[in-house]
Amino acid sequence: MRFELTEEQQQVLSMVRSLARKTIAPKAAEIDEESSYPEDNMRLLAELGLLGMLFPASYGGSEAGATAYSIALREIAGGCASTAVGMAVTNMVGETIWRFGNEEQRKRYLPGLASGSSGPGAFALTEPSAGSDAGSLRTTAVEDGDRYILSGGKVFITNGAFAGVTIVAAVTQKDPRKIGAFLVEPGTPGFSVGRAEQKLGLKGSNTVSLTFDECPVPKRNMLGNNGDGFRILMAALDGGRIGIASQAIGIANSALETATAYAKERRQFGQAISDFQAIQWMLAESATEMEAAQLLAYRAAWLKEQGRPYAREASMAKVFASEAGNRACHKAVQVLGGYGYIREYPVERHLRDIRVTTIYEGTSEIQRIVISRSLLK
Ligand SMILES: Cc1cc2nc3c(=O)[nH]c(=O)nc-3n(C[C@H](O)[C@H](O)[C@H](O)COP(=O)(O)OP(=O)(O)OC[C@H]3O[C@@H](n4cnc5c(N)ncnc54)[C@H](O)[C@@H]3O)c2cc1C
Repeated sequence: MRFELTEEQQQVLSMVRSLARKTIAPKAAEIDEESSYPEDNMRLLAELGLLGMLFPASYGGSEAGATAYSIALREIAGGCASTAVGMAVTNMVGETIWRFGNEEQRKRYLPGLASGSSGPGAFALTEPSAGSDAGSLRTTAVEDGDRYILSGGKVFITNGAFAGVTIVAAVTQKDPRKIGAFLVEPGTPGFSVGRAEQKLGLKGSNTVSLTFDECPVPKRNMLGNNGDGFRILMAALDGGRIGIASQAIGIANSALETATAYAKERRQFGQAISDFQAIQWMLAESATEMEAAQLLAYRAAWLKEQGRPYAREASMAKVFASEAGNRACHKAVQVLGGYGYIREYPVERHLRDIRVTTIYEGTSEIQRIVISRSLLK
């Protein structure tokens, strides 16, 4: 067993950490304050090959592997969590098109996603009445000659208003589990985007509803075969969960770093608050939990790279990292006292940003179902 990064992974770490600290982090408070989509950051990520990390160079990607991707996403999330979620969904969409798309689809969409020229990717599964229960979709795709007609609506879609391509899940047959995954481009007749949601955190990320009003999508835009959609989307979410674990670790690490530095500076009762055991224990607990989360995320990423089953490990990493990360951000606010609660310090933003990591790409309850099913089967 080797607990060391490869030379390439080390290079990704030092390049992305420096970018995140010098360029991304300084803009994060403003992006949050103004709820503005981080277009400049996304452009920078594209220039550095960070939007196509999971598919080959022949399609414009950097094929860095799941571990390097997890490292990069963690570092970007430590700088600006809103930017990280845009990066995560774009990489997930690119990887899904690469894995399940045909040659024409790969050539058509992957270079634009990696270079940023087409805009980011979006992944549209959730509907008003189908959240955790992703098998109960109501959006339909009815065959009509050489196209499908999509009707229905999606909610909470990250990157939705800016996406160059959106993977849309729709029921194609009478059996609601027979789902198709469609590649939908902006400007398709009948496809419209709702207003951006006002959120607790990740305020710079774009979260919108999508409507499909008799929207014609060519048959050639279906990923895989009719009925493959559920399997494709669940496979995408398995990989996505390593991403959300990494995002949570990055946010929590930043909060812990601020709390540690503050504890050494802040004096009360004639001494640094870091001299109080109560403060030391909060820092120690957060550091230990985030280390454990990191190992779970690395293990899931490594299994994925080996081509071995990793769905259970990805769920374990996601549920543990998101819950431990929430605890670490909560403690960081506590260490800063009143200063943790105001905008002068970043930990209140970290606490708001990390909250959603136990909810999206499968809630903690759904992760526990995935894990227990694999134990009990
Ligand atoms: C900021 C943000 C971005 C998002 N981005 C995307 C995106 O890009 N694409 C996309 O498709 N979706 C996206 N989502 C949607 C997200 O994945 C869903 O919100 C999530 O899956 C939960 O669905 P729901 O909100 O309908 O909650 P529900 O499914 O209604 O769950 C409500 C509660 O019930 C619990 N629950 C449900 N079923 C069970 C069960 N069987 N056992 C125990 N407890 C259960 C849940 O865990 C939760 O606590 C996003 C959401 C947010 C907030």
